[in-house]
Amino acid sequence: MTNHRVINFNAGPAALPVAALERARDEMLDFANSGMSVMEHSHRGKEYGAVHEEAVSLLRKLLDVPEDYHVLFLQGGASQQFAMVPMNLLPVGRSADYVLTGAWSEKALAEAKLVGTTRVAATTAKEGKYTRVPTQRELELDGGAAYVHITSNNTIFGTQWFYVPETGTVPLAADMSSDFLWRKFDVRRFGLVYAGAQKNVGPSGVVVVIVRKDLVEAGRKDIPKIFRYATHAADNSLYNTPPTFSIYMIRNVLSLTAEAGGLEGVEKTNREKGRVLYGCIDKLAAFYRCPVEVGSRSLMNVVFRLPTPELEERFVAEAKKAGMVGLKGHRSVGGIRASIYNAVGLDAVRTLVSFMESFAAKNG
Ligand SMILES: *Cc1c(COP(=O)(O)O)cnc(C)c1O
Repeated sequence: MTNHRVINFNAGPAALPVAALERARDEMLDFANSGMSVMEHSHRGKEYGAVHEEAVSLLRKLLDVPEDYHVLFLQGGASQQFAMVPMNLLPVGRSADYVLTGAWSEKALAEAKLVGTTRVAATTAKEGKYTRVPTQRELELDGGAAYVHITSNNTIFGTQWFYVPETGTVPLAADMSSDFLWRKFDVRRFGLVYAGAQKNVGPSGVVVVIVRKDLVEAGRKDIPKIFRYATHAADNSLYNTPPTFSIYMIRNVLSLTAEAGGLEGVEKTNREKGRVLYGCIDKLAAFYRCPVEVGSRSLMNVVFRLPTPELEERFVAEAKKAGMVGLKGHRSVGGIRASIYNAVGLDAVRTLVSFMESFAAKNG
């Protein structure tokens, strides 16, 4: 079954662990001896209910999510969170701080501007391009802000935060869509985190939100009920029909992660993948060039350039013939992007690296 699978470097939706897909295949027609698939069950029945609970509790366990945080599964993707965060947490008369590190943080800010007052606490844009994240000292934070928003990994520009900014008593909100669960992190450092599942933890259709209970309680009530965190928190993400199959797939992915010993091993592998791939780029610096400053190089989305756009095009085409897909950079920046999320193994990265070595030798 799996011998036709390619090595998938897609940025999102992205690779899923084969074992999570195989489990879905095996359970597809007859889930838990119920004679139907999980998708055909009522979201209020006990079969789906067990899946839902397991997904929440696996997340809680893997991250040690404290009791005073909600774990929610919502719809509308990370893009809807760009709006829901300010709708809930930015009251009239307050202001929110945004740190701009890429296209997604720009979009988050644009949505917040439609809701209320915002400030840019830092930006690392240079002529529309971002090649690093800011240092703590570069953040000009408003001590009275309703929250500070960051994008922990910049999927398009290939940069990542390797520290959690200190924001004092101001809650930190993070878009972790493309690096959620790349390693364990201290949830307490954040007021709210959100992550569209389709990069690192599952299929599209669901966004994970972890949010401090007091922020939810203090959230605005003058917005439609469906957009209030409080609504979904009160009903354990079952206020309306949730994306049951997507949550089921998250369950499959997280249960594999837990079985393999949790996030420490995931982090170790991710660091090794980054070391191997950036190591190749740096070794062959006469041919490959990474535009990102060393301290901000993402371990999830590795972007690099070849000497010419023609060579980049040939690189993508020949990689595809060699069984590797998804390597074309985002249309707004060009170049090459290898997304090496949790489900992309060290073997896959080694295969890419040997392809890169022989491509450089042939074309350099
Ligand atoms: C993909 C992505 C988004 C958008 O996610 P949708 O689920 O398509 O709304 C937002 N932020 C980041 C960092 C992303 O990588």
